[in-house]
Amino acid sequence: MSGKINEQLFSAHEHALEHQESCPNCGIELVIRNSKRGPFLGCGGYPDCDYIKPLNHNDGHIVKYLGQPCPDCGEELLLRQGRYGMFIGCSGYPGCQHIESPEKKKAENTQLACPDCGKGHLVERKSRYGKVFYACDQYPSCRFAVNNKPVAGSCQQCGFRLLIEKKLASGTKLQCADRKCHHYQE
Ligand SMILES: [Zn+2]
Ligand SMILES: [Zn+2]
Ligand SMILES: [Zn+2]
Ligand SMILES: [Zn+2]
Repeated sequence: MSGKINEQLFSAHEHALEHQESCPNCGIELVIRNSKRGPFLGCGGYPDCDYIKPLNHNDGHIVKYLGQPCPDCGEELLLRQGRYGMFIGCSGYPGCQHIESPEKKKAENTQLACPDCGKGHLVERKSRYGKVFYACDQYPSCRFAVNNKPVAGSCQQCGFRLLIEKKLASGTKLQCADRKCHHYQE
């Protein structure tokens, strides 16, 4: 947990010089913007002014640990709240510079491999009616989807490589995610 120690140093440091940074070109406040390569700081006056600078991890304090591994180094990802808004950083910082935007993370995958195609991952989605479901991110080439929260594991009955969480009157049970089986796990 070296990340935690670093963080304490950073936040002490940060409180000393907390201020809203503004654009050196036009004086408008900087805001977090997103590109395909991840978030960065851009001038709030965009598109009139196109000043940008990289977002630093110590521009934000830790809100929570996300329980998900960094795709670059495998350390835990964490959500940070900075002067410019929320972003996701790596707890391996400063050794790892991985950074991403929380907007992306919201539709982010559950880290569970699709049991159907084996290539994709299951991603949380919302139907037109606002109902949450989980679908393979290889859609439309793979159409695997489940309506209940997917859980890692294999079915005791058929060996299908995904379980779902089913809420019953008697409590929450794990069920095989294969429609042809739907076996309740012991
Ligand atoms: Zn500007
Ligand atoms: Zn990392
Ligand atoms: Zn799939
Ligand atoms: Zn099964």
